[in-house]
Amino acid sequence: MTQAHDDSAIEKLEAVRAKYQAEREKRLRADGTDQYRPLSGMFDDFDRDPNADPGFMRAPVDEEVDVAIIGAGIGGLMAAAKLVEQGVTSLRIIDKAADFGGTWYWNRYPGAACDIESYIYMPMLEETGYIPTEKYAKAPEIFAHCQRIAKQYDLYSKAHFQTLVEDVRWQDDASHWQVFTNRQDIVRARFVIIAGGILHKAKLPGIPGVETFKGRSFHTSRWDYGYTGGSPTTPMDKLADKRVALIGTGATSVQVIPRLAETAGQLLVVQRTPSTVGERGNRATDAEWAKSLQAGWQTERMENFTRIVAGQSAEADLIEDGFTKIFGNNPNALAISTVDEELIDLAAMEAVRGRIESVVADPATAEALKPWYNQMCKRPCFHDEYLPAFNRPNVTLVDTGGKGVERITEDAIIVDGVVHPVDCIIYGSGFEVGSGYRSRLGFEIHGRGGVGMTEAWSGGPGTLHGMLARGFPNLMIFDQLQGGIAINFAHLLTELANHASWLIRHCIDAGIAEIEPTAEAQEEWFQTLLGKLGPQAMFFAQCTPGYFNSEGRMDPSAIRSIPYFGPLLDFIQVLRDWRSADSLAGLELRSGTVDAG
Ligand code: NDP
Repeated sequence: MTQAHDDSAIEKLEAVRAKYQAEREKRLRADGTDQYRPLSGMFDDFDRDPNADPGFMRAPVDEEVDVAIIGAGIGGLMAAAKLVEQGVTSLRIIDKAADFGGTWYWNRYPGAACDIESYIYMPMLEETGYIPTEKYAKAPEIFAHCQRIAKQYDLYSKAHFQTLVEDVRWQDDASHWQVFTNRQDIVRARFVIIAGGILHKAKLPGIPGVETFKGRSFHTSRWDYGYTGGSPTTPMDKLADKRVALIGTGATSVQVIPRLAETAGQLLVVQRTPSTVGERGNRATDAEWAKSLQAGWQTERMENFTRIVAGQSAEADLIEDGFTKIFGNNPNALAISTVDEELIDLAAMEAVRGRIESVVADPATAEALKPWYNQMCKRPCFHDEYLPAFNRPNVTLVDTGGKGVERITEDAIIVDGVVHPVDCIIYGSGFEVGSGYRSRLGFEIHGRGGVGMTEAWSGGPGTLHGMLARGFPNLMIFDQLQGGIAINFAHLLTELANHASWLIRHCIDAGIAEIEPTAEAQEEWFQTLLGKLGPQAMFFAQCTPGYFNSEGRMDPSAIRSIPYFGPLLDFIQVLRDWRSADSLAGLELRSGTVDAG
């Protein structure tokens, strides 16, 4: 506390701190991340792909390739495209979906759109010559762009879709991996890239009685247009006589609610913790601006955003949106530690809360919609139609006071003893983050000597740069465990793809059969991660529970899973410097030309 601040500001700050703390306490639960249920077993049906041909059949394949890529989302797509650019075309891409796109294949819910500016989120705009139609493109446009990249790089012929990887095994004697699938394929590959996504495994809240509901229920990432009518771009014409409950008010639900509100007979928005919802200000792309762009503009723009949202100074803010505004005002928004920073955050949150009061007519609803935590404790949302939706007569906010839904019955949800009869429950309950690596992937990776990653990593992961792991030669992992973290995840994935494709090209050219980090290099990397841990980890530890902080109970035994908390551009520079040194520092190599068969 300094004398530069007047007493009333400090008093207000102290009151708000106490309020934030009390709201956090309300939400802490002993079961932490175990409160959720995977979409398997009893909930298998929730995971069914509503967009794929259920009758799809093909003969099993036994084949050899240079690289098998598991995951056809933006990470897998970028890895494949960059490998093709490097002249490595012997690839096999495997995904359980029926097309490229990953999150944009699955998330077809109404209102889905990119919350990062599309000019920096949609990759390879210069390579494909495509300019998004809007500053924040809608999901179908992003999905179509993924297909565009796949076509341009001739990736469809290299993909096995509707195919689930069941096991990945290193063959010590042959220096290659074998990838086994549910279609009885065996893909033998010198290198394997795991690009399974970090937020791809949908989860359900473990509310007592979930399984007893007799109406229709589904997760937002498996939207049932057969039930709701309409499509991602047209109104849901079958909901006029339906009572719909949407559970959750995270980034997904904020986009869904305005669309549901337009058509549902009754919409109950079931809230546990409010999101912060700032102005979006979407607009059509200015054709003149697009024409004026010079070669190299996309990387420059991506790096400008990433620099600003890491709190680093930039000559100009090229993006000028809600994200860059938060960090422009408060470079330490993700690691608040001084009174000055707290006061800036408080002003930003007062503005968020003030906006609710000025838009939402019913004072009790407005009050319940107010978020009470530091702005970056949850992913900030931006939407211009979310708050006005609560002024419609068919929309009711069911605030659970931080406790969540108490029980689900055959035909109703129960919150705080009140029974709300509904025809349909839609779960906007998010995706697994804190679960074990195997659970998220859905299969085991058996490295040297047949040792599974679950066993090898029972004391936490060991990697170099979050990508290469001792005991798992020629395996490249795209994840946040011990790796970079990003607000614009597409930027990180582009850089990981650059790194992996360079490394594979290098090994092929240099006749290197196996690469694997040394134990010392892994330990040194872990020490680097520990050195970056400080203020951001402290910041999240006091935040309201959510997937950013393992539901508020950061587990000290998970310390080895920490990401690189320094600025993302620094992490990217670490990878670039490592490549430029051209010495493959920290790797053990085994040379030899290897026949993948
Ligand atoms: P989230 O995990 O952010 O939200 C889940 C919601 O479900 C929360 O509001 C949570 O409440 C609520 N919930 C969980 N359990 C219960 C319960 N028992 N009773 C009532 N409510 C419950 O998932 P989202 O799918 O919304 O978003 C996940 C991420 O996906 C985003 O953070 C973002 O990174 C990404 N995303 C990106 C978009 C983009 O445009 N790029 C668009 C949409 C999503 P509580 O907060 O209390 O836990």
